[in-house]
Amino acid sequence: MDMLIRNARLRNKEQLLDIAIEGERIVAVGVNLVSTTHNIIDAGGSLVLPGFFNLHFHADKCLLGEIMRPNVSGTLPEAIEITNNFKRHYDPVEVAGRALRALQEGVKNGTTFFRLFSDVGTIGGLRAARGLLLARDKMARYCRVQVVAFPQEGLLRDPGAAELLEEAIKEGCQIVGGLPWYEYTEEDARQHIDICFEIARKYDLDIHMLVDDTDDANSRSLEYLAIKTIREGYQGRVVASHCGAMAAYNDVYAAKIVDMVATAKITISVNAHINLVCSARIDREPKRRGIARVKELLSRGVNVVTSQDDVNDPYYPFGKPDPLECASMIAHVAQLTLPREIDQVADMITSSCAKAARIPDYGIAPGCRADLVVTGASSVHEALRLQPPRRHVVAGGREVARSILTQELL
Ligand SMILES: [Zn+2]
Repeated sequence: MDMLIRNARLRNKEQLLDIAIEGERIVAVGVNLVSTTHNIIDAGGSLVLPGFFNLHFHADKCLLGEIMRPNVSGTLPEAIEITNNFKRHYDPVEVAGRALRALQEGVKNGTTFFRLFSDVGTIGGLRAARGLLLARDKMARYCRVQVVAFPQEGLLRDPGAAELLEEAIKEGCQIVGGLPWYEYTEEDARQHIDICFEIARKYDLDIHMLVDDTDDANSRSLEYLAIKTIREGYQGRVVASHCGAMAAYNDVYAAKIVDMVATAKITISVNAHINLVCSARIDREPKRRGIARVKELLSRGVNVVTSQDDVNDPYYPFGKPDPLECASMIAHVAQLTLPREIDQVADMITSSCAKAARIPDYGIAPGCRADLVVTGASSVHEALRLQPPRRHVVAGGREVARSILTQELL
């Protein structure tokens, strides 16, 4: 035994339990385990959760807000224009430096798994991807990181990007990204999806696309992505982020799409922070919110996750890399407030992400990787309400962050 966490409150368990860790794995979970180590963390009855995920984070752009001109319109097109000016001159070491700052903040908040999106295209080439791969290597002792090769300027709109996507994969990116709705025509959006599947198949990789991130009810790439996923036998290997157009669909069409997404076993990532500020900028009142139909998706059994898309960048000026804040936000936006729904919200930053990323050794049970968060709260409800400083964060069996009182309370 290399570490013992005592008095842990686990979800849906009455008794306080101990968690024994050997190397990077959990080896036992039980009452009053006999300690064979001096490396003991006393959770003191605090809720312990498996490590959090941020499954959609543009770490290459993070903190550009510190050095950029303001996004005056607050819209996506202006954000893209501002970012492009930086991308032309990106230096991988500088990109990694910014990413590392945000990743470290995320780890302190209990994140032990990140999926980072790196812009790949003819404007910035592979510089963003190289920066994030560098950050991934530097953070290896603190968290697990996947890097997505993401065509931010499109594939048909940016001739040459598809080839660069393959190059990025050869250099170490592990996920095929996509942005079909951004293409000029519906036909191009479909071709975009076809190209992504072709590359994913060639390298046997999973797919994570940004889909229908618009208020346009006619943006229909999720429909094609779902049918393509089914026809390619890629069920369970595709994540679609945003899907905000779903909020603008008529109810009959939305029901059909929810059904297709369920059949295709596509995970939907709802990134509420960014959509609440970027969507519906040209609506008068009532303003739409650009959020996918979370309750309808959940009730149809669709895997739904939530992520912190941006941290102070041209798209979004705020962004604390804290999955508990994301979970609280989605609870508000999707009106998930009943006890059963609050539990579903907690899944959205933990087990549902593990399912989406196909991580088999996730959880608090013998054999699982010892990625654990001593939350500092007494329950999931309290964790979402208070978002307290995480008392201890353990990644791969090592304590990587802590925040504790220096004096014992009486
Ligand atoms: Zn995004």
